[in-house]
Amino acid sequence: MTIKNIFSPEYPTSFDDIGSDIRVGIMLMEDKEYYFLLGKNTDGKYSIPVTSNILEYGVPVYGKCDSGNSLCDLIGSIEETYGVSTGEDVIEDLKELLENIEANHKGNASALDTAQYALKLFQDYCTYGHGDLFTNPQRDPKYNKQCLIVLPLLAEILNGLKEKGKEYNFKNCMKLFNRMKASQKSIAAFANDIMFYNNNKYPRATYGNADLTINDYPSTDYAGITRIFDNPWIDNYDGEDDRSIGDLFLADSFDDLVSFFVNKYLTNGLHFYLCPNCYRYFAFTSDTKTKYCTRPILVANKANDIGKTCREVGRLRNRTRKIFGIDANKLYQQNYAKAFYRKNKGEISEDAFAVWGTAARKQRDLCLEGAISYQDLEEWFDKNRLVD
Ligand SMILES: [Zn+2]
Repeated sequence: MTIKNIFSPEYPTSFDDIGSDIRVGIMLMEDKEYYFLLGKNTDGKYSIPVTSNILEYGVPVYGKCDSGNSLCDLIGSIEETYGVSTGEDVIEDLKELLENIEANHKGNASALDTAQYALKLFQDYCTYGHGDLFTNPQRDPKYNKQCLIVLPLLAEILNGLKEKGKEYNFKNCMKLFNRMKASQKSIAAFANDIMFYNNNKYPRATYGNADLTINDYPSTDYAGITRIFDNPWIDNYDGEDDRSIGDLFLADSFDDLVSFFVNKYLTNGLHFYLCPNCYRYFAFTSDTKTKYCTRPILVANKANDIGKTCREVGRLRNRTRKIFGIDANKLYQQNYAKAFYRKNKGEISEDAFAVWGTAARKQRDLCLEGAISYQDLEEWFDKNRLVD
């Protein structure tokens, strides 16, 4: 069999290439979550229908992330954070993506064209993390939207296009999208009330005692198939053969997928922290020391921080974590505009303005480099108000 790359624009070349009853498969191993896109072969067995050899192509058909990241990506940053999507942004972005695919389908494109187009666009959500094996070297990390949990939408689109061809109307896709949107609230409540370490040290007990008729937390009950699955790549990853075989879970619905994670987080004794860089939750076990998540940074004040993870940058700059939350440049520009206005009005001299401007830029750059914190910069502007 020729190994093909699901995400290359000319693949799949026919709907036979992608199998039937395509689903998202989940495998949890150690502190990682693996997402696969699987379909039934002609012999009725689930396998990776459209497969790629990671080592050969550098583009995985699946995504990998650390525990908790995929579920919490759906609720986004819980504080307004520079360059990071809030829950509303996540939904807006997804909506746009689906409208795009639907518009393509309503045009002259064949069902297969639309399938290829959808695969291409969803790639932004699939390639994930850092490390050569799981990152597509051709993709700019800043386009990676990091939300693996939206993959059931792709599975629905591929199934719909395969079954109904040009007649596929995206109704089920929009239903699923609305279900995702509606679930944000209960996932956020679960994250905040049950899992967030600062609020609650005993997730299992608290969840167990919660009245689910009053509290809108996701259920821990789920339906779906679990089977032993031989992951052909994990052994390539770290050279340990025994890690390549694991339980693969195929959820029956999006709610089942959420419940599966909720169930596993609770039974595996995880907690959530809020990453001080991106203000998104991530999971950890109680003996974990780190306070930062492993999501790649997509937008940063410093170009060379893009593509690094919050953890890498957080360690370097824990003194200046606010640098990613609030734009130091913006603060500089606001103060500069005020000073400029006063100079024009003749309240301050040209010379004083020039001296102040040079010093202000220096402080801003120190902040951008991480040498001083955002608060330090604010203080500097407070103390260095221009007087005559
Ligand atoms: Zn983070």
